[in-house]
Amino acid sequence: MRLVLVGPPGAGKGTQAEFIAENFTIPKISTGDIFRANVSGGTDLGKLAKKFMDAGDLVPDEVTNAMVRDRLGEPDASDGFLLDGFPRNVAQAYELDSMLNDLGSSLDVVLELEVEHEEVVKRLSGRRTCRNCGHVWHLEYDPPTVVGVCDRCSGELYQRDDDFPETVRHRLEVYSAQTSPLIEFYISRKQLVRIDALGAVEDVTDRAIAALSAARS
Ligand code: ADP
Ligand code: AMP
Repeated sequence: MRLVLVGPPGAGKGTQAEFIAENFTIPKISTGDIFRANVSGGTDLGKLAKKFMDAGDLVPDEVTNAMVRDRLGEPDASDGFLLDGFPRNVAQAYELDSMLNDLGSSLDVVLELEVEHEEVVKRLSGRRTCRNCGHVWHLEYDPPTVVGVCDRCSGELYQRDDDFPETVRHRLEVYSAQTSPLIEFYISRKQLVRIDALGAVEDVTDRAIAALSAARS
């Protein structure tokens, strides 16, 4: 299964990616996670990406594409993968085609998580991320047992710099202007499968797995 997840920031892509990747035994490749790991590691890539991320803008395509090309070339991605956060514009989608073509493969399906604007804003404002394992929690919808502490690894939870209201507004504009055209793009290629991403996390996971299994058969 070679799969892309698409949907606005806060739709639940990272949350669902964990379960979907586990179900289909494929690696989860999140460009946001890779950028954040580079930011905390203080690498040159992290220093460059941070400026764009903090502003809620996309990191330039040349940088992002090169990073994804490297990652898709790793052995664990040879039999399938789940991409979370890439592509994020039509130019990146064409670049993904070219990467997969060079690897002798192609994309199977694009899963869109559909969530209304108001819900996305609520999900982002309450999101808390573990500094250690990267797991995402929510203050109201999926709170950790102890405030500020990850149940999974006891790591410290923090609010992402790009989850503060001003930046969230801008990221949603960026999604609408630059990323949402991907929906039509993949519909026209008959690769898009859409699910309603409202409701309990487990229910959304069940819907996603059912839709992907149907698309594959
Ligand atoms: P994305 O990766 O699309 O930006 P996340 O997976 O990080 O989104 O989810 C954003 C926030 O919403 C997180 O705090 C997460 O815990 C919460 N969340 C995810 N799925 C659901 C859901 N089905 N219902 C309620 N909250 C959710
Ligand atoms: P995410 O974790 O998916 O919400 O991504 C966080 C931030 O990382 C985005 O707001 C962008 O600044 C950057 N980013 C992640 N994926 C991409 C991408 N495919 N293209 C450009 N920038 C990206």
